Amino acid sequence: MSRVGAKEKIRQFLLANIGRVIESRELETAADGAVQYSRRLRELREQEGWPILSHNDTTDLKPGQYLLKERPPEKTVAFARGISAKLRAEVLDRNGFTCQMCGLTPGDIDPGTGRKVRLHLGHIKDKSLGGKEELSNLRALCSTCNQGAKNVTGEKPTGIWLLSQIRRAGQDEQRAVFDWLKTKFGGSGG
Ligand SMILES: [Zn+2]
Repeated sequence: MSRVGAKEKIRQFLLANIGRVIESRELETAADGAVQYSRRLRELREQEGWPILSHNDTTDLKPGQYLLKERPPEKTVAFARGISAKLRAEVLDRNGFTCQMCGLTPGDIDPGTGRKVRLHLGHIKDKSLGGKEELSNLRALCSTCNQGAKNVTGEKPTGIWLLSQIRRAGQDEQRAVFDWLKTKFGGSGG
């Protein structure tokens, strides 16, 4: 048994093959036959913002083909000083690696800035008001929301509101939502 995990092997394999279309069996081989490679790809995409394309993203790829488009960001999550790595990980995990104000994740391009989303840890109750650096007082925020630059309420959107927005959107946007839901709620089982 190797000490290097399947995810790390997939990471290294992808980095060695930037810009080349990769077949799923190559990923299986790279991960020593691990069948979980699709989950690992999803994690790299959603949690670390790696630009990995599949047939869901472009008609140039067939099912089972993947492409790491360009060198991934070195670090997509910027951390506040003084917060332990364990606490950061707990907050980000609890918040699903999603900005708690606007809902963007590190895989997204912020439509306001045109830049890749980076997550920060923000205080719910400000430090100057006695807010502590503990799990219950921290949340994931994108750079823009962390700077207070987005006009979004803290309330979670309701289902009927979400549906109304999806119905108003164009077909490409609706398809992107559908693909995301499939990734989130399964289907592939990978
Ligand atoms: Zn945000």
